[in-house]
Amino acid sequence: MRFFVLLLLTLWTANAVLWAQGDRTVVIISWDGGKPSVIRQMVKEARLPNIYSLLIEGSYSWTAQTIVPSSTLQSHTSMVTGLTMQRHGVTWNDKFREEKGFVKVPTIFELAKKAGLKTAMVVSKSKLKQFAKPGTLDAEEYVKGDATKVAEVAVKVIEQVKPNLMLVHISDPDNVGHSYGWGNEKKGIPPSQEFLNALKRCDKATGEIVRALKRNGQWQKALVIITADHGGHDKTHGSADPEDVNIPWIAAGGLAAKKGELQGQIKTMDTAATALAALGIRAPDDWDGKPVWEALKERGEISMNGKQLPIIAEWKGSYCGVIEPKQIVIKSAKDWEDLWKQVHKGKILMPNIPAIDFNKNMVIAVFMGQKPTSGYSIQIAEVEQNDGEVIAKVRSTSPPMGAIVLQVLTQPFHIVVVPKVESRVRFVE
Ligand SMILES: [Zn+2]
Repeated sequence: MRFFVLLLLTLWTANAVLWAQGDRTVVIISWDGGKPSVIRQMVKEARLPNIYSLLIEGSYSWTAQTIVPSSTLQSHTSMVTGLTMQRHGVTWNDKFREEKGFVKVPTIFELAKKAGLKTAMVVSKSKLKQFAKPGTLDAEEYVKGDATKVAEVAVKVIEQVKPNLMLVHISDPDNVGHSYGWGNEKKGIPPSQEFLNALKRCDKATGEIVRALKRNGQWQKALVIITADHGGHDKTHGSADPEDVNIPWIAAGGLAAKKGELQGQIKTMDTAATALAALGIRAPDDWDGKPVWEALKERGEISMNGKQLPIIAEWKGSYCGVIEPKQIVIKSAKDWEDLWKQVHKGKILMPNIPAIDFNKNMVIAVFMGQKPTSGYSIQIAEVEQNDGEVIAKVRSTSPPMGAIVLQVLTQPFHIVVVPKVESRVRFVE
């Protein structure tokens, strides 16, 4: 005799939040020309209280590195594309060049937007528009003003747009560095007072942004990365000299690990990959940047393989009419009806066919095939969307040796309903 065990475990509405990462926030705050050796010294002297409190609850490096040339536009483009300049192709620094078109490679904003997330940038140099591709940003603000003004606009955007991914750029340190000097360590020349004051304004602005995230209840699921596009020496930068190339890299917020000073070498391209990782989006495999895992909380807490598709409905059991092992994807009502009948073959009363809206959803099903005893099971553990494909992770279990099992034929199966995706489904055991 056959039993049919059909469990309707969960039934969500079709309008349920699509992506798990929608409740996370990543803010990259770039202090333009923020020379790390000076920042470190000021922290020691308790002159950057906001940075200090982020350092003690997060992870940081004073020897992260930007690209060469250590210049603003090239470097920021690497920061948001995960690629070296040679690969992202933005090789100039003078201005937004309309005739060149927007950067040709994907940006973090673009990838986050594709994942259904909200994006924003609040920047104080208009040339950064070169990577603000149309359609990739929910808010795009070019601020004419200092750190105080940038923070004001950034806080407004956080409150009104609530972006999941945001770049905030403050140009104060660079502006005064060019006018008054970054100092020169090899020659023993200290940084100018104006430069120190600019860093203090950056610290205050960073504090405002952090407080806005806390007020909005976003802090626990936030990653704030404070970094820079380059340092500087005398009244310039752009060279391969460590004073120009070294940048600060500080990760704080609820998604950051409390690791203190990090040992690994961080590159500015890693900022892009880390931002995506914190949002649960996998960076393209060929990126030069890799996530700074050390700086993130338990890797397991961060869903890593792209967008996880929610399971809208499911049926799981040990007995069904499908006796061959099978993995299938169904995208039409007709095929669904056929499958439902097959599953219930031999049963006197077939349950009504559950209505599924195939305009919005699809069915993924796995069948283990006929087994000689009880104790076997199969499950679609996760359904994830990656670039170009959907991965259904399948987990099968067999009774352990010597386990007490029922001498009964079983046909374990699992059927799930997930949002419809056009790309092909790959089953991974
Ligand atoms: Zn500059």
